[in-house]
Amino acid sequence: MKYKSNRLSNVPPYKFAEVQKMKKEALEAGVDVIDLGVGDPDLPTPKHIVNKLVEELQDPANLKYPSFAGSPEFREAVAAFYQKTYDVKLDPDTEVLALIGSKEGIGHLLPAVIDPGDYVLGPDPGYPVYRMATLLADGEYHNMSLEAAHGFKPNFDEIPNDILEKAKVMFLNYPSNPTGATVGIDVYERAIEFARKHKILVVTDSAYNMVTYNNYKSPSIMQVDGSKEFAVEFGSLSKAYCMTGWRIGYVVGNKEVIKSLSIYKSNVDTGVFTPIQKAAAHALTGDQSSVTEYNQVYKERMETMVAALQSIGIGTKPIHAGFFIWAPVPDGYTSEQFVATVLEQTGVIFTPGNIFGPGGEGYFRVSFSVPNERIQEAVERIREKLVIGS
Ligand SMILES: *Cc1c(COP(=O)(O)O)cnc(C)c1O
Repeated sequence: MKYKSNRLSNVPPYKFAEVQKMKKEALEAGVDVIDLGVGDPDLPTPKHIVNKLVEELQDPANLKYPSFAGSPEFREAVAAFYQKTYDVKLDPDTEVLALIGSKEGIGHLLPAVIDPGDYVLGPDPGYPVYRMATLLADGEYHNMSLEAAHGFKPNFDEIPNDILEKAKVMFLNYPSNPTGATVGIDVYERAIEFARKHKILVVTDSAYNMVTYNNYKSPSIMQVDGSKEFAVEFGSLSKAYCMTGWRIGYVVGNKEVIKSLSIYKSNVDTGVFTPIQKAAAHALTGDQSSVTEYNQVYKERMETMVAALQSIGIGTKPIHAGFFIWAPVPDGYTSEQFVATVLEQTGVIFTPGNIFGPGGEGYFRVSFSVPNERIQEAVERIREKLVIGS
């Protein structure tokens, strides 16, 4: 008997679990743990969105099976959001699809568009789901290494020709998790040019598109001419509106890709609960003051964190988006050794960079998932208790 496919056996173990185990042990030992590892901020979903959900729950028609592609209200709200934010026109019927969170869509995209042995190009370091979803679709993953010296931007010329010939899909993610890097529209222009030349689908993951500060505005690949031919963009309500548990996102762009993904999905799921779609539509088109307010909170946490890390000799710079700081570990440590040492000596949890791919080795990620006072406390403890090089 073997209840595990070879495909699944090829997927490396979920590395976050190890950090979670160390956390559990520390908590059991009575340590006051400050968890700066999780990517799920402490701020609540804004009240008007919760109220809209409660209202929609009262209508029995909303409690039936949802439609596969998503409710018209939600798809129109995504199109309206693109019009308002990026001056991009989308057809809500054919160029927008509702997802059970963008992770679900990213996961199901690959079996819908690649064949076994096809190559997927993805950022290294990058969000682990791109790699895992590729392996689960029997594809091959190629790490596009993102260098600090190059602003963690992709270097398309570095991809070997033999890989390019077999490549079907390229993932890009800006504002980036884990590096915090942001880009201008020029990077997307080059990506579309590259896609046209090599017949590759570009997939952008815009999970942090609205989590921006310091006057930075994140562009969309959909603003580039030709994007509807060569690109799709995933988006999420999770980060901008603190709706991680609600499970709602979307994909926009190339019609054929959206069609393929919707055929695949119609055979494995039955869409997003309608009241959640209607509340999400309200989030996208309604009052955006919570977004501004939350971004201010992240900006302050980011500044506290960067100043604190710099004060203990860890080199890192202010960023303009997202809620993660990406920093090099001190000399003499691997990422995992450093994270384990910090937890042991101070009760503070970071995420080891190697979780995000081989290019993440030598780095750690800090998330602004806790209030400023706890960030201050974490840094005080590191300053007072951490013995680097012991
Ligand atoms: C959080 C996150 C997602 C997933 O968001 P959901 O919509 O909650 O599934 C996708 N990509 C990146 C880079 C993320 O950090």
